Amino acid sequence: MKEYFQNIEIQPIPHLSKNGVSTDVLRIDQLHPVVSGNKWFKLQHYLQHAKNTGAEAIATFGGSWSNHIIATAYACREINMHSIGYIRGENSTKLTPTLAYAKTIGMELIFTDRDHYRDKQALIRENTREMVYWIMEGGYGKMGAEGAADILSVAGTGSYSHILCAVGTGTMMAGLVKGSAPGQHVVGISVLKNHFLLHSEVDNLLTPEERLKQKSILHDYHFGGYARYNDELISFISGLWNQCNLPTDIVYTSKLLFGVADLIGKGYFTPGSRLLVIHSGGLQGNNSLITGRLPF
Ligand SMILES: *Cc1c(COP(=O)(O)O)cnc(C)c1O
Repeated sequence: MKEYFQNIEIQPIPHLSKNGVSTDVLRIDQLHPVVSGNKWFKLQHYLQHAKNTGAEAIATFGGSWSNHIIATAYACREINMHSIGYIRGENSTKLTPTLAYAKTIGMELIFTDRDHYRDKQALIRENTREMVYWIMEGGYGKMGAEGAADILSVAGTGSYSHILCAVGTGTMMAGLVKGSAPGQHVVGISVLKNHFLLHSEVDNLLTPEERLKQKSILHDYHFGGYARYNDELISFISGLWNQCNLPTDIVYTSKLLFGVADLIGKGYFTPGSRLLVIHSGGLQGNNSLITGRLPF
């Protein structure tokens, strides 16, 4: 996958450069046509650890549109490791494009009803097979954060005043805090509704010194909750595409960019701020929309 690093560009967004603030987007969604974005970064250290400990398979969890599932399937195939995905929900006769692709590239899919899915530790206990290495949902954990810290090293990012990202489990944000230069402020936009535990979930992945770095998590841009959206968000996505040639996904990056636009408008950033917005990928998730809903 490293050979794809050259695909990653920094894209200036003139439409979001006003009130003395300039905005660029780090397009890690361009890493790969399918396995785009942050999930691959988060997986790197787990995969290495799994290999070093002699694991023969990687098992993890995700929903039927999960970017994490698809990235795990792909990354495991690259290192010739068997992968197992515990999928939330019942098996349906027709797989989503996400799951169909994961299966095509070799992932073993095990459907798990919602009650069982909720209790990950029990699932792990009941399904412990020899030589299986478990990765938490979304790659949450310290090794995930260490992998995500590398996001800031794919291009020159040291001169930005703010690094902005969408936040699910908080692993990527923790990585960005780890990788941030002195004086940089990392701002996370939560895509979950009122999930205030995020602050400690991020801190748990950081050292005491890293916890003192400048970071904020904002809870105002979830649009009703995880994977929820409305017409306003859909037309915002269309506008970003039409005016800025920037494709975004409905779960993470559109809410992030919406938040950035709103914060700039409100004067949240002091004039002279230089923003770097992380486009973490996830565009394959837009396949859950009916065809034609988005202009790309
Ligand atoms: C998973 C994901 C995130 C959230 O990452 P966390 O490390 O779980 O906070 C953000 N953007 C995209 C596109 C993702 O797929």
